Amino acid sequence: MNLDPICASEGESMRGTYTVILKCKEPIRIRFGRLGRANLPTGYYLYTGSALGRGAVSLEGRLARHKRRSKRMKWHVDYLTSNSKCQFKRAICLVSSDRLECKINDSLSTKLKVQPILAHLGAADCGCRTHLVRVSQRSGLANLLAQLWTVYSLFGNPHLV
Ligand SMILES: [Zn+2]
Repeated sequence: MNLDPICASEGESMRGTYTVILKCKEPIRIRFGRLGRANLPTGYYLYTGSALGRGAVSLEGRLARHKRRSKRMKWHVDYLTSNSKCQFKRAICLVSSDRLECKINDSLSTKLKVQPILAHLGAADCGCRTHLVRVSQRSGLANLLAQLWTVYSLFGNPHLV
């Protein structure tokens, strides 16, 4: 695995697709805006998105936002990343200006055992069922990263963050 951090030689300007791994250490009952409430058991959750702009909408800017607890609620995943019972663990990303988030999301959902939480969760801007899922297989973080790495490698050269 390539463990080099992605480096921003030209400021926050990288574009790409990413999956963040979140962990709920305790069960959470959470309201995802207008989509409604859901009970989230402990375990790992994956959110797959893309950041194809500059500054705040660059890959670096977007990942920094996911790591930050304090933010205005803009996307469904924000309700999870701002919750104190939910931890940002790692992210995997692919630097590319191609719009790959739905393809990678689709590939992840077939190669890993995942469960949807609510229909359209994290997928307000596309036709996918969801981009925010619970990992239903029993696996540790290293195993999960290895599986994500395998899927991402189908699309290019991934990096771990
Ligand atoms: Zn999609």
